[in-house]
Amino acid sequence: MKKNILEIQNLHASINNVEILKGLNLSVNEGEIHAIMGPNGSGKSTLSKVIAGHPLYSITEGSVKLNQEDITYCEPEERANKGIFLAFQYPVEIPGVNNIDFLRLAYNEKQKKNNQPELDPLSFFDLINQKAKQVNMNPEFLTRNVNEGFSGGEKKRNEILQMALLDNKLSILDETDSGLDIDALKSISTSINNFFSSQKAIVLITHYQRLLNYIIPDFVHIMQNGKIICTGTAELAKQLEKEGYNNLLKMKNN
Ligand code: ADP
Ligand code: MG
Repeated sequence: MKKNILEIQNLHASINNVEILKGLNLSVNEGEIHAIMGPNGSGKSTLSKVIAGHPLYSITEGSVKLNQEDITYCEPEERANKGIFLAFQYPVEIPGVNNIDFLRLAYNEKQKKNNQPELDPLSFFDLINQKAKQVNMNPEFLTRNVNEGFSGGEKKRNEILQMALLDNKLSILDETDSGLDIDALKSISTSINNFFSSQKAIVLITHYQRLLNYIIPDFVHIMQNGKIICTGTAELAKQLEKEGYNNLLKMKNN
C-alpha cells in the first residue's frame, strides 16, 4: 500500500481575522503528483503557505498531517526538517547574501537536524554544481546574491535548484510555471520530472493547463473560495482549459 504523505482535514485558516481557507480536505500519497488549480484569489497560495507554517496565518480548525504525524501547530523550520519544501509564487530577493552560502546554510541545517554530516564549502561546491547541472542552471547564478536581479524565470529555476538540493519528501510548487517562456517551461518541467520518484509527492499549484502537458498529474483539484470543490484526473484540467472556470464551476454547482 502507498504511504500517506500529506493528510489535510477540514482545514480552516485566517489572516488578519479574515478566513481564507474554509474547510479544505486533501490527501496525498507517496508517488503521486497532485495539481491544484483555481481562479485568482481562491486561496491556493494561502494553502501552500499554511502547509509550510507561515507565521502570519492562523489555523482555526482542522488538521495537517505529514507522514501520519500531526504538524498543525509546528514551526516552519520543523516542517521543513520533517520533509516539506515550498517553492514560492514570488521568490524573495536577499541582497547581500550569496546564493551558494545561502544554499549551504539551508542544506547543512537540514543535515544537522537529521543527524547527517554537514558539508564544508569545498565539498558543497561540488554537490551544488552537480545539482545546478541537473536543473540546467548556469553556475554563474550560484555566486550571485539570492535572486537579486534574477529574471522571473531565473528565480523560478533557483527555487527548483533548492528543491533538488534539499530533496524533501513533499514539494509544493506555487505557480512555478508563471512567467516562463515555453523553452524554460519545458526545461523546468523536465527537472521536476527527473527529481520526482515513487517515494516522493509533489503538489503543483498552477493556473494553466499547459504545465500539465509536461508534468502529468495523478489528480487535479479545483479550488474555489477556500475549498477544494472538485477532483478529477488530468482530463479535468483539459476540460477546464476548454470551458473556463466560470462554466465548469456553474456546471458543478448545479
Ligand atoms: P490564489 O493564490 O488562489 O490566487 P491567495 O491565497 O493568494 O489566492 O489569496 C486568497 C485570498 O486571500 C484573496 O482574496 C486575498 O485577497 C486574501 N488575502 C491574502 N492575504 C491577505 C491579507 N494579508 N489580508 C486579507 N486578505 C488576504
Ligand atoms: Mg497564488
